[in-house]
Amino acid sequence: MTTLFELPALKFAFDALEPAIDARTMEIHHDKHHAAYVNNLNKALESAPELYTQSLEKTLREINKVPESIRTAVRNNGGGHLNHSLFWEVLNPGGKKAPEGALLADINKTFGGYDNFVEKFNAAATTRFGSGWAWLVLDGNKQLQVYSTANQDSPFMDGHAPLLGLDVWEHAYYLNYQNRRPDYIKAFWPLVNWTFVEKQYSTYR
Ligand code: MN
Repeated sequence: MTTLFELPALKFAFDALEPAIDARTMEIHHDKHHAAYVNNLNKALESAPELYTQSLEKTLREINKVPESIRTAVRNNGGGHLNHSLFWEVLNPGGKKAPEGALLADINKTFGGYDNFVEKFNAAATTRFGSGWAWLVLDGNKQLQVYSTANQDSPFMDGHAPLLGLDVWEHAYYLNYQNRRPDYIKAFWPLVNWTFVEKQYSTYR
């Protein structure tokens, strides 16, 4: 009996993030977009069923070992599943509203202060052409980095661990913000659950 990947239930109500992110956007984003990544990942893995039971993190870290015939589908849909699963945790209401302790110290050391970090992240999110994600990651040398990726590419594919991610695909904001991506990015910061981000940091550092 094969265990398929499953769409994780959202831990909060669709309208919990209003007015920053509207309920209709959340519903479509989780129930349609994320669900499609999960379904298409499961379909792609029919020809490599051993990957159903391997962690998606490992599969993405070793994306070049995935059979070539399904590699692009796994990259897009496996990345999509993992990125969105992380995003819902980042947005989960509650938790600390600012970084503290070791993570804050590292942000200060790496970026020259929290405000500089936010500015750098915002620039990455704003200038990502087309669809993609902005990230705070721990790279292979355990250094913090900020950058963006295209489409559903995961930092794990470069041996980096994502701590904090922001979806800048139009489907994430278009109903409420239309072409005003910078307004969506600004509205995102007060939502961030830094307790989750700190947990990621202590897991991967
Ligand atoms: Mn999305």
